[in-house]
Amino acid sequence: MYLLKNIKKVYADDKNKETALNNISISFPNSGMVFVVGKSGSGKTTLLNLLSFFDTPTEGTIEFLGVNINSVNDDKRSFFRKNYIGFVSQEFNLFNSLSVYENVAFSLEVQGKKINKTKIESLLERLGILEYKNKKVINLSGGQKQRVAIARALIKNPKVILCDEPTGALDSTTSVQVMELLKEVAKDRLVIMVTHNPELAKKYSTRIVNL
Ligand code: ADP
Ligand code: MG
Repeated sequence: MYLLKNIKKVYADDKNKETALNNISISFPNSGMVFVVGKSGSGKTTLLNLLSFFDTPTEGTIEFLGVNINSVNDDKRSFFRKNYIGFVSQEFNLFNSLSVYENVAFSLEVQGKKINKTKIESLLERLGILEYKNKKVINLSGGQKQRVAIARALIKNPKVILCDEPTGALDSTTSVQVMELLKEVAKDRLVIMVTHNPELAKKYSTRIVNL
């Protein structure tokens, strides 16, 4: 799915220079659960931001499905992100004033796809949040919001799902539920998951990348 060659990411302003990733070369397969682990500040979020094309490397190349991402324009990158990538960020980035259902439906709208009520509801059910369907996101707990963010990513049926610490805010029962669901969807797509939980990585990964 991805081929990264000699990736370097430096954050710089007038005063400071911070090298977040230094000469990383790695490939990611088309399916499976790849865990990215490493201590705080090791560059996990930076890597995910590169893989979702939210950010660009300072040096090196990223190939996605055989396409060199550096050499395509912003429209093409947006197209890839919109249609092929589901992103579950640490901050969720949901619409607080919209309901759970509306947040997930919006994800389909962005793709220009028809809203399929049955499909949305069955996904909400699998994530244990169907009962909150009409609740505004602002009134949900952290764990519930996270599951909405995961539903919003999954409804797109993307080729890749990128998750930044997806079970951080979940209790252990819900966390198992979410991991089992991701494990199932990883049979025919790539799930890349950042976590600081080595137990989780050991249990569910098909591969572990240590930054
Ligand atoms: P992790 O997710 O593993 O905790 P990050 O990718 O967030 O690590 O950060 C890696 C390093 O890059 C850290 O030293 C962090 O301070 C720095 N960094 C991350 N984002 C920025 C940014 N936008 N501007 C400047 N430095 C940053
Ligand atoms: Mg991080």
